[in-house]
Amino acid sequence: MIYHSTRNSALSVSSAEAIAQGISADGGLFVPESVPELTAADFEALKGLSYAERAARLFALYLTDFTEDELRECTHNAYETGSFETPNVQELATLADGTMLLELWHGPTCAFKDMALQILPHFLTRAVKKTGIDREVVILTATSGDTGKAALAGFQDVPGTKIMVFYPEDGVSSMQKRQMQTQEGENVRVCAVRGNFDDCQNGVKAIFTDPEMQASLDENGLQFSSANSINWGRLVPQIVYYVSAYVTMLEKGITDEEQGFAVTVPTGNFGNILAAWYAKQMGVPIRHLVCASNINNVLTDFINTGVYDRNRAFHATVSPSMDILISSNLERLLYHMTGNDDAQIREWFGALKQTGRYEVPVELMHRIQAEFSAAYYDDAATKATIGAVFAENGYLSDTHTAVGIAAARDFTAKSAEKLPMLVASTANPYKFGAAVLEAIGGTVGADDEYAVLDALRKRSGMAIPKALAELKNKEVRFTDSVHREDMPEYVRVRLGIE
Ligand SMILES: *Cc1c(COP(=O)(O)O)cnc(C)c1O
Repeated sequence: MIYHSTRNSALSVSSAEAIAQGISADGGLFVPESVPELTAADFEALKGLSYAERAARLFALYLTDFTEDELRECTHNAYETGSFETPNVQELATLADGTMLLELWHGPTCAFKDMALQILPHFLTRAVKKTGIDREVVILTATSGDTGKAALAGFQDVPGTKIMVFYPEDGVSSMQKRQMQTQEGENVRVCAVRGNFDDCQNGVKAIFTDPEMQASLDENGLQFSSANSINWGRLVPQIVYYVSAYVTMLEKGITDEEQGFAVTVPTGNFGNILAAWYAKQMGVPIRHLVCASNINNVLTDFINTGVYDRNRAFHATVSPSMDILISSNLERLLYHMTGNDDAQIREWFGALKQTGRYEVPVELMHRIQAEFSAAYYDDAATKATIGAVFAENGYLSDTHTAVGIAAARDFTAKSAEKLPMLVASTANPYKFGAAVLEAIGGTVGADDEYAVLDALRKRSGMAIPKALAELKNKEVRFTDSVHREDMPEYVRVRLGIE
């Protein structure tokens, strides 16, 4: 399988190169030249297999310069060595109204990012060896809260790597901040940015594509890569869980090839929902995709009007991991849907950078709407959904998942077909404890996040994840904070390449 840049179709790289580089030097994202298709027999053959085994077989279709043994080793290390608290890795829960929740947060940092970030370091270290570049890899990551911690956990003390994470100083939950500030490991570094997630992401992208920075890295035997969902190595493990969820639904007789199902994804950077779209292209019978947002509703507007416009107020919400106005992975969808029109992508994403806006033709908008619908919910609606789901089912959902449940219910209510509905459940509710506690009628005991955990446990009976409970006793190691403009200097100083 060959990969092209969304901004240069003539550029071809191997899967190992795509993963090792993270982002193309022209600013584009790497995409597969074609999407492998699965037949009914292929899905049948995945029944009864462990998650790790399913993943290894699916990876083999995309990561063609890795051997089967290497892929098995990667999936075993990521999914079968105890870092996930359930042997199935992902779990399927069903609410009384039939809505299914694909729980993707049983990993070490309690959010769905672990599904990909527990395996990315294994891919990346092998990819670097394969590309013959004998350099230390520096992972540079912008985070809206969950990617940062999951990447730190994945790359902690991995030989041949260093990792630096930038997060918006006031844009993450207190539990998310605590998780990052207490990260252990000799090769890790965490820094707050006085700005929002888009500032962090733009700052990181600018560092990646700065020729002077490149030259300094070269001289020092270093190479950047990304753990954000701009890296293909992040997306491909996410495709796996949608395929695997479908196989599990087949096993349980919940749906079949004929009927299919709909998927709702609470969305920020458009990575997780794009993975579902790839699964659909592979042959998973996903009849419709619902893109759920909080009031940072730039994607809702885009899907409904064909205009992407980030020139709007940025809102801090109770679902901070979706407080994003630049959804990077949309670039991949548009590249595929325009028939690999790299010139068009350069124009739109050039305009996005210059003016913050681009507009797609009506014909394309209609094709997008045939596959995707979109809705957004404010904090009050999000909390009301958490409250209602808890009252009806005794089930606790986090703030992001609740945005998805609200969108899924509204979609099902309006559609004539009544398809089985699968909602991506993206985080453990304890990660956003204060908002969740308030939503189920508890009183938020000021700023003590551990008191919140206890209160939530008393009210819900759900066990506190060990990884969060033990943060209390961990030392805070990282309190650095910089302005957006000072990020390049910070990176130079911390890497010792002044
Ligand atoms: C990252 C994240 C999202 C958004 O996922 P994207 O791939 O950026 O669309 C949603 N919910 C949670 C809990 C997250 O951590």
